[in-house]
Amino acid sequence: MRAALLRWYDRNKRDLPWRRTRDPYAIWVSETMLQQTQVATVLPYYHRFIEAFPSVEALDRASLDAVRSVWSGLGYYRRAANLKQAARLLTSGHGGRLPADYRALLRLPGIGRYTAGAVMSIAFDRPYAAPDGNVRRVYARLLGLTEPRAIDQAAERMVSRSRPGDFNQAVMELGATVCLPSSPLCERCPVAHWCHARASGTFDVPRPKPARTKAVQWPLVFVASRSRVLLHRRPDNGLLAGLWELPSPETLPAPRSLDETLRRSEPVAVIRHAITDMRITAPVYVLQRKIVVKGPAWRWVDLADLRSFPLSSLSTKAVRAARRHIPVSPD
Ligand code: SF4
Repeated sequence: MRAALLRWYDRNKRDLPWRRTRDPYAIWVSETMLQQTQVATVLPYYHRFIEAFPSVEALDRASLDAVRSVWSGLGYYRRAANLKQAARLLTSGHGGRLPADYRALLRLPGIGRYTAGAVMSIAFDRPYAAPDGNVRRVYARLLGLTEPRAIDQAAERMVSRSRPGDFNQAVMELGATVCLPSSPLCERCPVAHWCHARASGTFDVPRPKPARTKAVQWPLVFVASRSRVLLHRRPDNGLLAGLWELPSPETLPAPRSLDETLRRSEPVAVIRHAITDMRITAPVYVLQRKIVVKGPAWRWVDLADLRSFPLSSLSTKAVRAARRHIPVSPD
């Protein structure tokens, strides 16, 4: 079965940039980006990130703002902060390299069993499993297992000793392209012959309970003056830590007259967005006015420079919507 799967992988694998390297750093970055994010979304970010920070040392030397800026739009920003923090620890404690040691990898911020297993097997050829959602689904069906612990143990047992990295990627690839969650394409599957689910006709896999979501109202104000827009930097801790965003009416240091104007105006757009467990509804208001602000958490930024700014995805959407509705004109 392993041989059949590896043969299929050799013939069918997608040509992805992180599959053309054995650099543990590049593999770590790609696996971190791929957590909770689709391959197609990750690709441009991966290229930009590796170009901007080609090594652990380069990532360590960069400012957190520069890292956030390259990450901006990919979501789950904690991952970027973790990479940066781990780069510091790798530079100070491991000579700027990722250690070929599963337990040492697990001690780094942002690295769990999946990422540690992926780095160990793909970069260092060690037989560790990398059980993510796709991989667990494949094993559950293939072996007829339901208990999460039994599935993880099976994943460890199954890893090929001769080509562990390719084998793990083959299972991931099978889960991503053939053994799909709702309708597996069994007729194209290289391991169908051995598959418990196919033989028994039971494809249901225990799913983790969907996280509860909460509805949040998050009004934003697009304050424009000439070709510049007013941005506010979020605190270094908590949600969207350190990212820049459009101010909300409450954070805006507005004099009473502006407050009145805002209260009377209608939003030019309403954005819907999700961050972790929040379903956000964000009405976007427009103010064309120069407001005097003080302190490092406020900045007037030229619209042309926004692309290189670590702006939250919610605010990026809001800026786009606001610009569709208003021409940014001189005061
Ligand atoms: Fe998945 Fe079907 Fe292949 Fe079994 S035969 S592993 S259910 S695609």
